[in-house]
Amino acid sequence: MESWNVPRPAALPAQPDRLSIHDTSAGRQRHPGNTAEASLYVCGITPYDATHIGHANTYVTFDLLNRYWRASGQTVAYVQNVTDVDDPLLERATATGVDWRELAAEQTALFRSDMEALNVLAPDHFVGATETVDWIVNAVEQLMANGTAYSVPGTDGDPDGDIYFSIDAAEAATDWTLGSIGQLSAADMVQVFPERGGDPHRPGKRNPLDPLLWRVARPGEPSWDGGSLGTGRPGWHIECSVIARRLLPVPFTVQGGGSDLRFPHHEFSAAHATAADGQPLAKSFVHAGMVGLDGQKMSKSLGNLVLVSQLLPQGVEAVAIRTALMSNHYRSDWEWTGELLQQSTERVARWRQALSHEAASDGRAVLEAMHRALSEDLDAPAALRELDRWAESANAGAPAPAPAPVGEDSTPDVRTVANSLLGLEL
Ligand code: ZN
Repeated sequence: MESWNVPRPAALPAQPDRLSIHDTSAGRQRHPGNTAEASLYVCGITPYDATHIGHANTYVTFDLLNRYWRASGQTVAYVQNVTDVDDPLLERATATGVDWRELAAEQTALFRSDMEALNVLAPDHFVGATETVDWIVNAVEQLMANGTAYSVPGTDGDPDGDIYFSIDAAEAATDWTLGSIGQLSAADMVQVFPERGGDPHRPGKRNPLDPLLWRVARPGEPSWDGGSLGTGRPGWHIECSVIARRLLPVPFTVQGGGSDLRFPHHEFSAAHATAADGQPLAKSFVHAGMVGLDGQKMSKSLGNLVLVSQLLPQGVEAVAIRTALMSNHYRSDWEWTGELLQQSTERVARWRQALSHEAASDGRAVLEAMHRALSEDLDAPAALRELDRWAESANAGAPAPAPAPVGEDSTPDVRTVANSLLGLEL
């Protein structure tokens, strides 16, 4: 589907790729895998309540990774999906009396404009689940054929023929084991599975944690021709698995998302891919922390959302929102507050004041310092402190830098560096 438009970052003098980033599946920090051609898949929204600060935090995190790679001279292939048919979207559409397609289209449009405002680089492919049903049907048929998927008989409330993924069969047939991607304990997986869309009590499943691959048609629900699977609609994990596999190299460099996607979503997206062709889905799995409000995780189900599209009309600048997000390390769980936003607005003002001085004409030193900070597990707070240090010195009257020696690369100014590397439009 249509993506959004954010200018490609201006080229910067290439910096050394020293990236060390926390890979959830390895349980430690390491280089994510590719040194010339990076590839990134970030799980997209389910479009019914876009874009709260928690979403914005996730997409800004992976935007920083994208920008880091580009500043290191790498090419980046980036894919993001939109889960434009799923239970929560259909439930919201029914509850509000809006057609589910209209709700999805309207919320996806809002998401695009929020991403543009936040200066988040667009993916190369922005793909709706409903655009890829044929791909998904093929993949589920393949899993049925190799014995890692099975059909569940009907019961009182459910018709015959929903298709599930067999954890036990996949463990027997591949290198994947349950928990190897998300690194959650067995007890934690049992606890969060029903909270995140799973149905452990569905009669007829072989393992209570087996996830849904294909839901056969119910009256009043949208459905597609599923070939040998029967009419129905896709499950969530197979959607991302298939879209990523179709549009990125195998395995791609980084699978990204919020930490609530560690299990079941990323666990099973990876398991489905490996069950299909024996290859791992991604080299590294990177997860952004959760943003809270008033002591609770910000979430649709709790109704405590701060939306980007509500802040902007109040006169809040998107660059201040982006600064507030980047003031917290991406892996930490943190709280959104009005005070943080105020501090970020003041910080942006100090940076702008510094840009008016002659010292802003040479951004090489601050580029190197900020890039080095990001190398250490994408430490955006440390990169912003480098910008603070530079601004403090410039505002205190630091002398203009000596011109670059003749024959050197053209020198980027600080405004260009802040925009290209950190996505800050100052
Ligand atoms: Zn996903």
